[in-house]
Amino acid sequence: MKKFRTIENIFKGSQPHMVGDGFRVSQYLPSQINSMNRLSPFLLLDYHAPYYYEPSTYTRGVGAHPHRGFETVTIAYDGKVEHHDNKGNHGIIGPGDVQWMTAASGVMHKEYHEAEFSKKGGTLHMIQLWVNLPRDKKMIEPKYQALLKGEMGAIELEDNQGEISIIAGEVNGVKGPASTFTNINIYNVNLKKHGKVNLNEPSNFNTGMLILKGQVKVNEDKICKESDFILFDNIDGSISVESMDEEALFIVLSGEPINEPIASHGPFVMNTREEIYQAYEDFRNNKFGKEVF
Ligand code: MN
Repeated sequence: MKKFRTIENIFKGSQPHMVGDGFRVSQYLPSQINSMNRLSPFLLLDYHAPYYYEPSTYTRGVGAHPHRGFETVTIAYDGKVEHHDNKGNHGIIGPGDVQWMTAASGVMHKEYHEAEFSKKGGTLHMIQLWVNLPRDKKMIEPKYQALLKGEMGAIELEDNQGEISIIAGEVNGVKGPASTFTNINIYNVNLKKHGKVNLNEPSNFNTGMLILKGQVKVNEDKICKESDFILFDNIDGSISVESMDEEALFIVLSGEPINEPIASHGPFVMNTREEIYQAYEDFRNNKFGKEVF
């Protein structure tokens, strides 16, 4: 008998809401499980399911806002998103690309639809994740990583069953390009019909997956649908996933928990209330730097 890593919970995201006027997202973490700890180091998961935006003469998005104490990770599947921050970083990400911003001690950034994409209109499909930083990394210098599709770790599954694209950490010895501050595995898995994969994540890593496309059968038993999030128990065992559709796509989030207190308010995630007050005070006193950039 194979031992599977069993399912603790399957849940959907919230009703979609707009972030600024450009991102129609459904929140999974923390609101749908009422916890910023259960999937530590993953604090927040907003999923922008495929949604068509009409051509527009103005640029949709969200204006300058601060962050401190964690990282924002934006993963694009369809459409183009542009980013500017007040540390001089600027990037455009398209399908398969990832932007990994370590806000740490503090940045101001804005995120919006890329100009040409806005003008032509089109479908946007993306994820934004907030990844926590351990206490001793919360106030380091901010950092920015633009990770392009071609740089991702790639595994072709045997017999043309599909492929794995690794953003961070490693799968079967193949590494992803992201540099991270704690042990994290993030990867997309694309399966053809009846393509099957066995995943082995350490039992002490908090592990979940979001189904982005198609239906899959998990652990030879449970049928999971598009936009289901599957949270696994922290036990030894492998996770088997088989595609029930012509194509299935899902993302795996797995990481070693940061076992420290979380104090969170708005765009700041620290360890104590005092550090949150300090973040607001620093923001008011322009210590995050200029707002126009
Ligand atoms: Mn932001």
